[in-house]
Amino acid sequence: MSRIVGIDLGTTNSLVAYMDHGTPRVIAGRHERTMVPSVVALTDNGLIVGDPAKEHLTRHPERTVYSVKRFMGKGLADVQDELAYFPYTLTEKGGVIRIQLGEKSYSPPQISAMILKELKLRAEAALGESITKAVITVPAYFNDSQRQATKDAGMIAGLEVLRIINEPTAASLAYGLQEKTQGTIAVYDLGGGTFDISILKLKNGIFEVLATNGDTHLGGDDFDRVIADLFLADIHAQHGLALAAYPDHMQALRLEAERAKMRLSDETRTTVQLDLPEGTGRFMRELTREQLESLCLPLVERTLGPCRQALKDAGLAPHEIDEVVLVGGSTRMPLVRQRVHALFGKQPHCNLNPDEVVALGAAVQADILSGGTTDMLLLD
Ligand code: ADP
Ligand code: MG
Repeated sequence: MSRIVGIDLGTTNSLVAYMDHGTPRVIAGRHERTMVPSVVALTDNGLIVGDPAKEHLTRHPERTVYSVKRFMGKGLADVQDELAYFPYTLTEKGGVIRIQLGEKSYSPPQISAMILKELKLRAEAALGESITKAVITVPAYFNDSQRQATKDAGMIAGLEVLRIINEPTAASLAYGLQEKTQGTIAVYDLGGGTFDISILKLKNGIFEVLATNGDTHLGGDDFDRVIADLFLADIHAQHGLALAAYPDHMQALRLEAERAKMRLSDETRTTVQLDLPEGTGRFMRELTREQLESLCLPLVERTLGPCRQALKDAGLAPHEIDEVVLVGGSTRMPLVRQRVHALFGKQPHCNLNPDEVVALGAAVQADILSGGTTDMLLLD
């Protein structure tokens, strides 16, 4: 049977993984980077995907599509509240959203297919064989048309989607939790632009979703924004410069803010440097983890309400949760880990990379489907 890969088609980043002799592994591309930013940009030379497309975000916002996952399986009326967030043009045809890129318009599955195609090519290059089958993950709250749109994206990319599985289920599989006979699991997923909490119940190898909650506009991008705002105010005070008038520099500032945030997950202080426009000099400052945490604390606190609500909907008290799983790049932040630990009174699982864990679990599910490691049938 030909190989089945596991794919995390994320709002911010996407990844592909496979089972390597019983161990799930994420496939890296150039520079050992495992994540493909879920961004597609139209340039003078055509469409580009991933890291190079992300570079276009501030410079050509009207020609750079990000967060396309938010539009999967939806009509224009479903996303009225979202429109203000997006600089690109959305239209509708036959009840389905179309995204305008230059002269042409594309459906969300067509854009997602470009990201999937990139992952397919990456897997083919790494594994040296043609890849035509995949398991793809979706949020637990995705409805039938959002799941169907995800399958359609796979088909357009030349992938037969053997199964769509829930992201929190995939994360649980990555930690091997299916090997327990029963239990309750809380999956806390804080990504780039979204926060999801899912409460699962495991019984005899079957994961049931008891409750989901979250915030569709809360994530690492918000942390980057508060840091960037701090730098902007500093630049204004030190250099009398309103950087907002310089899109290229704003983009560099945003990326620098994100990099500083990421470094502060491992270090307690870091130095930020940025070239300012037209020879007005160079911006430099220190940022400590403590400063970062005081800026981000109110945002992190905002994730706790949905957690409590999900527990309530599941009819469970925090101490009745047996396993807590951290998912999403933003859960690398020590502050986030502390808060989640405190809420559930339990050390969360975090020894796998939280931004890879969903793809790893998708690879486990793919392996189960292909009869690789076990004959157990997993459903959710
Ligand atoms: P999504 O599921 O939304 O596609 P990810 O799980 O890949 O996204 O999370 C992306 C977010 O994680 C980004 O905001 C990124 O800045 C953040 N992130 C990645 N690594 C770190 C880190 N070391 N510390 C803090 N945040 C991080
Ligand atoms: Mg994710």
